[in-house]
Formats: sequence, C-alpha cells, structure tokens
Amino acid sequence: MILQDKVALVTGGASGIGRATALAKLNEVIAFGAAGAKVVFSDIRSVEGEETADLIRETGAECLFVKSDVSSEADVQALVQKTVATYGKLDCAFNNAGIDLAVKPLHEQLIEDFDKIMSINARGLFLCMKYEIQQMLTQGAGVIVNNSSTNGLVALPGISPYVASKHAVMGLTRSAALDYAKQGIRINAVNPGGIATESFDRALMKMGITADDLTAMVPMGRIAQAEEVAQVVVFLCSDAASYITGQPFAIDGGYTAS
Ligand code: NAD
Repeated sequence: MILQDKVALVTGGASGIGRATALAKLNEVIAFGAAGAKVVFSDIRSVEGEETADLIRETGAECLFVKSDVSSEADVQALVQKTVATYGKLDCAFNNAGIDLAVKPLHEQLIEDFDKIMSINARGLFLCMKYEIQQMLTQGAGVIVNNSSTNGLVALPGISPYVASKHAVMGLTRSAALDYAKQGIRINAVNPGGIATESFDRALMKMGITADDLTAMVPMGRIAQAEEVAQVVVFLCSDAASYITGQPFAIDGGYTAS
C-alpha cells in the first residue's frame, strides 16, 4: 500500500489509462486505489464516470467522481476545491485527460481542431497544474504526473496538432519541475506508446493502419495494456521516486530507443 492515506486525483478517469490508474484492483495490477489512496477522478462523461466509481468502490477503495472539463478554468478550480473539501488535501495528481482529432497533413488541418486540441491537452493540463500546485504549496508537498505521449518526444506524420500539444506537455512538465523543485513538489511525465484503449482503436482507424502494423514498429512486438501505464504513474507518485523530477518516462516497448 505505497500510497496509504494519500489523496490522488486523476483527470479523464472515465475510461482507458485514466480509469486503469484510478481503479483499485484490475488484473492484480497496482493502481491508485490498490496502493491505498483515496481517489478523486474527473471526466466530461458522467455515465462512464459513475461506472468507474462503481468499479472502484466494489474493490473497497474510497473514491469521488466529479464531472469536470479540464478546458474550463472554473471546472478545474472547483475540482481541486471538491477534492480538498472531501478528503482534506491533495497529494498526487495524474493529469491524463486528452483527445486526438483528424489525421491529415498540417496544411489541411483546421484551425478549430488545432485550438480544440491545445485547449484540452495543453491549456487544460496547464490549468490543472496551476490549481493543483496552489494547493500543494499550502501543504509543502505534492506529486504531479502528466500524461504526454511518445508524440511528446518524437513525431508521427499526419497529427501535427496532437504532436504539438504533447510536446507542450513536456515543456510544462520540465518548467514546472524547476519552479517547485525546492518546495517539495515533484513533477514528471509519462510518454505512452500504443496502449489498448478506445481512443487508441479510434486513432488507428483514422490513421488507416491496423494494430499489427503498429506492433511491427515496436521492438517488444506488442502494444501495452493501460495498467502498464498505471503502474509507472503509481511509482512516480510514491516515495520510491523521491529524487525524480522533470523527467519523461517512455512506456513504449522500446519504440523511442532507436
Ligand atoms: P480515452 O479516450 O479512453 O480516455 C480519455 C478520457 O479523457 C475519456 O474518458 C474522455 O472522456 C476524457 N476527456 C476528454 N476530454 C476531456 C476534458 N475536456 N475534460 C475531462 N476529461 C476529458 O483515451 P486514453 O487512450 O486512455 O488516453 C488518455 C491519455 O493518454 C490522453 O491524454 C492520450 O493522449 C494519452 N495517450 C494515449 C495513448 C494510447 O495509445 N492510448 C498513447 C499515448 C498517450
């Protein structure tokens, strides 16, 4: 129970990587709930959010679902306030909510799509960090993990707004890590490669490739389960990672090693 008595927040927790990270126990993998944390998670989708809450409670862990949009400053401020009002503090935050949109070369990308993706993946993550850090400063401690992507380290063709937004996550992570390094707040990023989630399936369809095509590009020869990201997030939030800040963690089967 390496996060015993900690309070952990996950954005975009209604499905995929966020749900796996919030869940107490899934396939015996350690996630926030299983690590002993009280879990608050947000999403824009209420039905799937309540489903995730039921799954977490079935395991005996405590949780709170808050319908909240990371691109709304008022929502994000209220999310952090509700977390503290309910559980008294905020120890760990996983800023995970994110979207991808159309696949086409940059000159055909719509300005509206660029603005939307940046408003959620980059500006939304900035808003989350801003209000999480304000709370963590009052406590003198806290840990943040931001969900970037291998596309925050290297690029793929056809998805320039997504790649830009995930590189922005890395810039925010590194800058903020330096801002608060002496104030007890550690900030890192995870950089998942292909992870089996609903949005991953949709992204493959948009890119016109199959899971087998992608697998062929991965040195380990497989895509990953969301729980394999969750475990790294829990590690980074724990005291086992006490000297780690400002770093990317590629969870990509070796994809960015070459
Ligand atoms: P997912 O679609 O299953 O989960 C994303 C969740 O975020 C959804 O539940 C969605 O409703 C929620 N969300 C969307 N917009 C939101 C908003 N404005 N406010 C709050 N919640 C919002 O997808 P996933 O694959 O689990 O992706 C999670 C994160 O991981 C994303 O940031 C994604 O870019 C990143 N990522 C995923 C992969 C992958 O292969 N699946 C790879 C690299 C990075």
